[in-house]
Amino acid sequence: MASTPDGSVNYPLCTTPEPGGWQQVVPGVLWIRLSLPFQLDHINVWALDGGAAGWTLVDCGLGDPRSRAVWEGLLRDPLGGRPVERVVATHFHPDHIGAAAWLVERTGAGFATSLTEWLFARTLSAGHDAAADAVVEGFYRRCGLDEEALASLLARKGAYSRGVPAVPATLTRLRAGDRLPVGDRDWTVIGGSGHTAEPVSLHRPADAAGPDLLISGDQILPRISPNISVWPSEPDADPLADYLASLEGWNALPADTLVLPSHGRPFHGLHGRAGELARHHAERLAEIESLCVEPQTAATVTRALFPRPLDPQQMLFAVGEAVAHLNHLIGKGRLERLAGRHDGMPAADLYRRPDVTGPA
Ligand SMILES: [Zn+2]
Repeated sequence: MASTPDGSVNYPLCTTPEPGGWQQVVPGVLWIRLSLPFQLDHINVWALDGGAAGWTLVDCGLGDPRSRAVWEGLLRDPLGGRPVERVVATHFHPDHIGAAAWLVERTGAGFATSLTEWLFARTLSAGHDAAADAVVEGFYRRCGLDEEALASLLARKGAYSRGVPAVPATLTRLRAGDRLPVGDRDWTVIGGSGHTAEPVSLHRPADAAGPDLLISGDQILPRISPNISVWPSEPDADPLADYLASLEGWNALPADTLVLPSHGRPFHGLHGRAGELARHHAERLAEIESLCVEPQTAATVTRALFPRPLDPQQMLFAVGEAVAHLNHLIGKGRLERLAGRHDGMPAADLYRRPDVTGPA
């Protein structure tokens, strides 16, 4: 979730759609831009023309009244009132899946994503139980957040279901390697992991009409590093290992693939960008390792990595990202975690280099 140098990419399209607007990327592939009411500012969604079968929409924005009003306009123009065959969600995050249930009901479209992303969305949209609330509070206490930060995070309860009031009740399950026919062209599902557990990307090989296309979701973005976070439900996870493996996987696609990302602009430079993001994480890991010469909490590591003021949503992603890097370093044997206890109660965990002996 940090801004990173994007010197390895270039942007072949000269213009960018206005919020709620659209433009053609290649014949049969439309780039639609939806605005978002938070710092991310916008999301790109992609409309793939399947001819008589109708449109395939990839991602769809938040499930709020404003998005629905914009979609009503888009269904008329540029989609021309023609059928929508399916809505694909690249992953369960609200800006990608929020309007899916409404669109499916409104248009009669099918819905497709991976099983894991669908289950996450269904579970989170259904709301929290009290046991989960206690787990969330315990996790962030062990991260060392102060009472004020803790209170503002806990006050976000229900934020997911506000962005995603409903999730389609049935799905067509997408798995890595599946072929997704759109008109007379096939897109191939590319798997991966890291930003979420089982995101879906779509690749279409080059032909006479245009270059290789990759709809990448949030797994690779041109200007920001996708958030890689550990969440309270799986506190020992190492999503960064998954993400770094996924970055290497992009080398299997042609170097001149035109990448259609969820945020930012379509870009060339897939391999260079993957390398840039891998270096960004390697630098972060080294930075954290040197900080942990002195024992640190996840909160102090977060403040070192993200020194700017953070709103509660940004804080959630920032702490999650810090823990993702800490867990990765533990997995590599480069750090150790000392479980925090104070008067028999859980307190902030400390992280330190195993080769440094200190008071902790
Ligand atoms: Zn996302």
